[in-house]
Amino acid sequence: MTQTEDKTISSTGDTPLVPMEKIVSLSKRRGFVFPNSEIYGGVSGIYDFGPLGVELRNNIRRYWWWSMVQINDNVVGIEGNIITHPRVWEASGHVENFVDQLVECKNCKRRFRIDQLPVENLEQNKCPVCGGELSEPRLFNLMMETYIGVVEGERMKTYLRGEACQNIYLDYENVLKSSRMQIPFGICQIGKAFRNEVTPGNFLFRQREFEQWDLQFFVHPSEMEKWFDYWKERRFEWYKSIINHKDRLRLRPHDPDELAHYAKKAFDIEYRTVLGWQEWEGIHWRQDWDLSRHSLYSGHDLSYTDPETKERYIPWIVETSGGVDRTFLNLLLDAYEEEPPSGKDKEGRTVLRLHPWFAPVKVAVLPLQKNKEELVTTAQDIHNRLKRLMVSQYDDVANIGRRYRRQDEIGTPFCVTVDFQTLEDQTVTVRERDGMSQIRLQINELPAYLLERVTWNYS
Ligand code: ATP
Repeated sequence: MTQTEDKTISSTGDTPLVPMEKIVSLSKRRGFVFPNSEIYGGVSGIYDFGPLGVELRNNIRRYWWWSMVQINDNVVGIEGNIITHPRVWEASGHVENFVDQLVECKNCKRRFRIDQLPVENLEQNKCPVCGGELSEPRLFNLMMETYIGVVEGERMKTYLRGEACQNIYLDYENVLKSSRMQIPFGICQIGKAFRNEVTPGNFLFRQREFEQWDLQFFVHPSEMEKWFDYWKERRFEWYKSIINHKDRLRLRPHDPDELAHYAKKAFDIEYRTVLGWQEWEGIHWRQDWDLSRHSLYSGHDLSYTDPETKERYIPWIVETSGGVDRTFLNLLLDAYEEEPPSGKDKEGRTVLRLHPWFAPVKVAVLPLQKNKEELVTTAQDIHNRLKRLMVSQYDDVANIGRRYRRQDEIGTPFCVTVDFQTLEDQTVTVRERDGMSQIRLQINELPAYLLERVTWNYS
């Protein structure tokens, strides 16, 4: 584990689980997430990310990339395409097996995935919402189809990828040859995946278009156990380091009946929200399944020759596969807090206790008054300098208390206030979001002070 991953945010104590509606409403109101095609009535399970959402998302992606690719000498990254040759999905088993079983209530018409129905409802064939009779189960393939080519009759049917990781197996040999990697080594990717989920919902939790991050780590079979345990621990610590409520995170081993036939074991990293304990990332023992299948279906041998021993074998794979969108959602659910009025804030406030690394806006620069030209120009000057280093917002609308609250609600870790003393001694007030404590700093000390607190350690 790196020094940086050890850092954790201060705990906020035992606060109640945040209702999903609060996050949906904040997301829309402040520009984190919008329903896609809203003016046409929207599309279930598809969302767009607004100005703050895209900053948060980029910060999440960048931190994952930094801690998985940049600091690990034996891991490299790729960016594969969404569309691949259709045979890929036959080899992976998705065309045949990527199905959900669905039942529909004959009374209220609600649909349920069989694997998510409570056992008693399944046994009694009863709708968990209205008690109505359930239909016979039907199979639904989750792959989204598309077509390549323009001439009718010659168009090739293929799929938008159902999981991002397949590109890694396809590019594995090219990476091996071009980057001079040797086993054990890993390939990472962040990318979109598409699934015709039969029950999309719960905001970003289950979407039809979403983003995944994967590590596929290639090992000699004799070292599988060691590397599986290594990545399981590292990924768990990684998630722990980015949340406030450590007690809401757990590692759950898969039951034997959940395991794929080639997997000796598997774990889910789960986070507890109003939806209960839910998967955030899966740690999978994939053995030689993927490279063997692609060797078989493509006729291209993907085995590896050890440069020293000359042993030839199909590498085994440890996979860590998580969701960018679930990270986005879980971080908001983890960080959101409504604070009652207190000595420090008479009106109470909503605060997003996001880690400063992830906060979409790092600093807000506020002149104490809008109608004093010197205050305004000094604040604008500071903002213009800071925005080259980090996301900075200038705000002079409304009284200072309201401006602080606006920033607290979007998780801005620092507010810099320019007041009359600034004009005399070139110092400003720096207010910190969580404890609302304030210090005075020289203007020229600001960049180093803020950078140290809002960026992870690149040294
Ligand atoms: P679930 O059991 O919740 O359907 P899964 O086991 O099918 O998930 P994987 O195929 O292992 O999920 O995908 C890896 C990660 O991708 C998941 O841990 C999750 O974070 C994310 N993910 C999967 N499906 C969705 C979805 N429909 N919307 C958003 N994120 C998803």
